Amino acid sequence: MKINVTHSSMPTLDEYIKEIKPIFESRWLTNMGEKHNLLKEQLETYLQTEHVSLFCNGHLALEQALQAMGLTGEVITTPFTFISTTHAIVRNGLTPVFCDINPKDYTLDVTKLESLITEKTSAIVPVHVYGNVCHVNEIERIAGKYKLKVIYDAAHAFGETYKGKGVATFGDASMFSFHATKVFHTIEGGAVCYTDRRFGKRLETIRNFGLQGQEEIVEVGANGKMNEFSAAMGLCNLRHIDEEIAKRKLVVQRYKARLGGIKGITLCEEQAGVKSNYAYFPVVFKKEAFGKSRDEVIALLAQEGIFARKYFYPLTSNAACYKGKLKTAETPVAKEIAENILTLPLYADLTVEQVDRICNLITG
Ligand SMILES: *Cc1c(COP(=O)(O)O)cnc(C)c1O
Repeated sequence: MKINVTHSSMPTLDEYIKEIKPIFESRWLTNMGEKHNLLKEQLETYLQTEHVSLFCNGHLALEQALQAMGLTGEVITTPFTFISTTHAIVRNGLTPVFCDINPKDYTLDVTKLESLITEKTSAIVPVHVYGNVCHVNEIERIAGKYKLKVIYDAAHAFGETYKGKGVATFGDASMFSFHATKVFHTIEGGAVCYTDRRFGKRLETIRNFGLQGQEEIVEVGANGKMNEFSAAMGLCNLRHIDEEIAKRKLVVQRYKARLGGIKGITLCEEQAGVKSNYAYFPVVFKKEAFGKSRDEVIALLAQEGIFARKYFYPLTSNAACYKGKLKTAETPVAKEIAENILTLPLYADLTVEQVDRICNLITG
């Protein structure tokens, strides 16, 4: 049987039908309907944040958050992420400046951050990659010193807390993705979390074509709205999220028991103070020590119908569309990790037997 890197969690069909029935009755399908408003409210509680604005996907949420922040010039970010992060910066007419990552949790190396700040820098866009929480206190200190905005790409960090505080409470804004492949999803969807109401008003204006009332167009906006069927899926999935995360934890514990302590295999350590959502299970393979390279492991798994993914390779700074267009400093740690990392299949319904089969193939 085929095992993909992920497998969307779903409510039962009955639960979803019950949730969407009122939509058929009201015929209010999108534009901040009842389901949208209810999901927004529930997420504000769940994510421990003051304000949530819901979007049709995570990418547009980030892109429009950067626009609403009114940034200029350069934005310091990580190249070790999904291409969306870099595209969102470039599509706002901003220049991404790539900072290396630290070799422990693969988030921004905060010791290398300050040297990249110039008078053109207006913001930092760090990524809580794999759900590993960025070094938020140090980022806040540096941002404060140079008066920079901080917008987190929290696409992987749904529901996580650091020292008891929701991850969405750090920085000026955080973006979550609710794509079908993420820990929590609305089929397609996303959100921006923030505290500044004025920013929120501008963000929601941009989300709705820049319209203020019916006749005044005050921003070069777009359409970023979440529809009612997506919101209904979110309401269903949110009911089961804690159980889903608990099941993911069991999968991760099994992987760790099987792959921990093997020479040439590096796993992410648990971060102190972080309540994890177990979004991904990244493994770094060192061929000299382990005997097999990352690419050899992918191939041997694929032969058995198991599809692990090279998240994240290539580095976004090496994307073909940016060749010769961005001046990129060396990011040696990110380069090394991108060349050797593999994320193994991980989802709530993955069984211990399946994890064992995957691990037997890897170590065998
Ligand atoms: C999934 C993802 C996005 C984009 O979210 P979508 O909802 O798919 O548009 C952005 N950044 C990261 C790191 C992601 O993993």
